[in-house]
Amino acid sequence: MKTSIQVLKPYFRVEETLYQIRECLERGWSGMGYKTEEFESEWKRYSGFVNAHFLNSATSGLHLAVNIFKSRLGWQDGDEIISTPLTFVSTNHAIMYERMNPVFADVDEKTLCLDPESVKRSITKKTRAVIYVGIGGNAAGYKEIKDICRKNGLVLILDAAHMAGTKWKDDGCQVGHDSDCAVFSFQAVKNCPSGDAGIICFKEKEFDTAARKLAWLGIDKNTYARYSESSYKWRYDVDEIGFKYHGNSIMASLCLVSLKYLDEDNAYRRKLANIYLEELSRVDWIELINHSDDILSSRHTLQILVEERDDFIDRISEFGVYCGVHYVDNRQYRPYQFSEIKPDSAAKVSERLVSLPLHLNLTEEDVRYICERILKIF
Ligand SMILES: *Cc1c(COP(=O)(O)O)cnc(C)c1O
Repeated sequence: MKTSIQVLKPYFRVEETLYQIRECLERGWSGMGYKTEEFESEWKRYSGFVNAHFLNSATSGLHLAVNIFKSRLGWQDGDEIISTPLTFVSTNHAIMYERMNPVFADVDEKTLCLDPESVKRSITKKTRAVIYVGIGGNAAGYKEIKDICRKNGLVLILDAAHMAGTKWKDDGCQVGHDSDCAVFSFQAVKNCPSGDAGIICFKEKEFDTAARKLAWLGIDKNTYARYSESSYKWRYDVDEIGFKYHGNSIMASLCLVSLKYLDEDNAYRRKLANIYLEELSRVDWIELINHSDDILSSRHTLQILVEERDDFIDRISEFGVYCGVHYVDNRQYRPYQFSEIKPDSAAKVSERLVSLPLHLNLTEEDVRYICERILKIF
């Protein structure tokens, strides 16, 4: 059979996951509550976050974060949030949904994360928050940016879509406790996969309470709580116009199993990543993207920079090795063209970026095969 290696592909423990799903089906409860509450507890225990609400996606979570801070902290339409142009569009859509303006700071081309100096220079009177994206599981510059936010009275939102299980080496803690809100993704190809799901972790209880209500259309009580009491209480109130953003028990079933193996899986990702880094460090036309020394990275992606990127991807695909790009500079997309593309590092690296295959279905031999192919054809 012809080799076919995808850039990202989920791995599921099928029997264990089906057992969780079967419990939902037998109980007759597949919606919000039950497994979603069980997963929230497991996630809090694992990650150390004090608050966590399970959602249908990280995109919903990022929108909720901006929505809740905006309404509770009195931000206005047209106020600014500093963000990165080098991210999945969800990050910046979340700002646009709330009629605020993304202001694109530059990235550090060695790490692809926001450059703290550029963040500092981007602050104006209208700046309300910074959204930091830990790209590929990295946390470079995070602490500096957190300090900048504290000094300038800005809210720090962490787009942690790639960061499930990224931990500080010194205390073993999940990165992000000190943000005002961290949002994780459990989408199908993320490193802690389900089908589609996410979780929002506010530092303040008050915002978590708001998120629970807003993710369920503004309704003040969840159906499961009403159902599990001795009789079914049909009456509820609607306090505001919310969204349909909460998660369900089937997705939580998948998440429960993925989370159980997250540390083990991330360690395996790091092992594969280290093979790439070792093999490719000898190649002078490849620049490797490093993750910070002070973390154990989730290693959601393995990114490199090459000159003839499109050509590289075409030629390596002839060997059945399919690469990706995380990400195209968002300023190239129509909704973001109001922000002219400066010839900054983000614009430049966006043209040279490649993500090599990295996931649980790969063996060490597969990674060596990919490296060999890369070396041979160039
Ligand atoms: C995947 C991703 C999201 C969105 O996650 P979903 O759960 O698919 O909505 C947000 N930000 C980044 C950086 C992502 O990679």
